[in-house]
Amino acid sequence: MLDAVVIGAGQAGLSAAYHLKRRGLAPEDDFIVLDANEGPGGAWRHRWPSLTLGAAHNIHDLPGMPLGTPDPEEPASRVVCRYYDQYEREFELPVHRPVPVQRVISDDSVEAALTVETGAGTWQTRTLVNATGTWDRPYWPYYPGRERFKGRQLHTRDFWSADEFSGQHVVVVGAGTSAVQFLLQLSKVATTTWVTRRPPDFTDRPFDAEWGRDVERRVRERTEAGLPPLSVVATTGLPLTPECQQGIDDGVLVSRRMFTSITENGVMFDDGTEVAADAILWATGFRASLDHLTPLHLRETGGGIRTDGVAVAADPRVFLTGYGASASTLGANRAGRAAATAVLKHLDDRHSAAPVPAGD
Ligand SMILES: Cc1cc2nc3c(=O)[nH]c(=O)nc-3n(C[C@H](O)[C@H](O)[C@H](O)COP(=O)(O)OP(=O)(O)OC[C@H]3O[C@@H](n4cnc5c(N)ncnc54)[C@H](O)[C@@H]3O)c2cc1C
Repeated sequence: MLDAVVIGAGQAGLSAAYHLKRRGLAPEDDFIVLDANEGPGGAWRHRWPSLTLGAAHNIHDLPGMPLGTPDPEEPASRVVCRYYDQYEREFELPVHRPVPVQRVISDDSVEAALTVETGAGTWQTRTLVNATGTWDRPYWPYYPGRERFKGRQLHTRDFWSADEFSGQHVVVVGAGTSAVQFLLQLSKVATTTWVTRRPPDFTDRPFDAEWGRDVERRVRERTEAGLPPLSVVATTGLPLTPECQQGIDDGVLVSRRMFTSITENGVMFDDGTEVAADAILWATGFRASLDHLTPLHLRETGGGIRTDGVAVAADPRVFLTGYGASASTLGANRAGRAAATAVLKHLDDRHSAAPVPAGD
């Protein structure tokens, strides 16, 4: 039986694996990492090429190996895949892929173990660090008529290049950073209509450390109460960059209220006006990708999972990283370290007595 299984090899999973190893767990013998992807990079592997490193918010260093100073014009997906690949090799992390975890069940007959079931085998473990991110769970709200629309509908996770929409009219749904970035790119080759449920929350507040702490506190309050985390933008607001200000001045970043239905040819608003569209781009965000944990019954009646840091109230063997307040590269780093510490605490005396390495 393993001491720990880490599910997911994005920022959160790699950080957890690094710290588990540093705290004395042996790769393969004591712990493994199972990742659904074909190769390294976590969700970054799938991001569109025009999302350059410079256009990303900030990609924090993984513990023990700085990212360095790559060209800000290089696609973030390429930079991060390369970085994670080097990282996994350098620290000889036991990542198995592609291994999508289908479900985790509590096997009380065997030393209170958890059984991790995948298409590539089954593992038993004393603890579980879940680091599965959100990319595999796009949120796509339903509006009447969705199935009637004859044009193209796609979600953020399907977006690849604005050039695909050249000369078209695109309705962009959503008030987050992805929607804003798509609109600014699309407006160079297409016409657009922006629709949002609430007015976009542009803010010129500096996105500094104090802001970061404030965001984390507000998210943590919800997850500690067993409520699902809100969308990212509901907590962070939208940075009012000079490009955004220009977009507002040009009328590109001026939104309409949500449409009420979708027609064959476009979208219909509550005042009876119809906007014809070639495509509807749903930049409506993501939810935590946790379906494989359903058999563990971790959710509270409020729909969320009650957590205290990375610890899950409903099951002391399970630790959630990259969830709620730790859903950023910086937060995921910290959560990975906290999870490794918590795993060791949960394990036998031999492990819990292991000293925390200096400089950690
Ligand atoms: C468009 C977009 C842009 C973003 N930009 C930034 C940014 O600039 N800076 C920032 O800090 N944050 C950003 N974020 C948030 C970002 O996703 C996180 O910061 C971080 O990279 C997530 O790391 P993670 O390890 O939690 O998840 P992920 O990177 O999503 O990794 C999860 C891994 O788990 C695997 N997995 C999922 N389900 C299973 C399963 N059942 N079995 C096995 N493996 C599984 C996946 O294949 C994946 O490899 C952005 C998010 C989005 C959507």
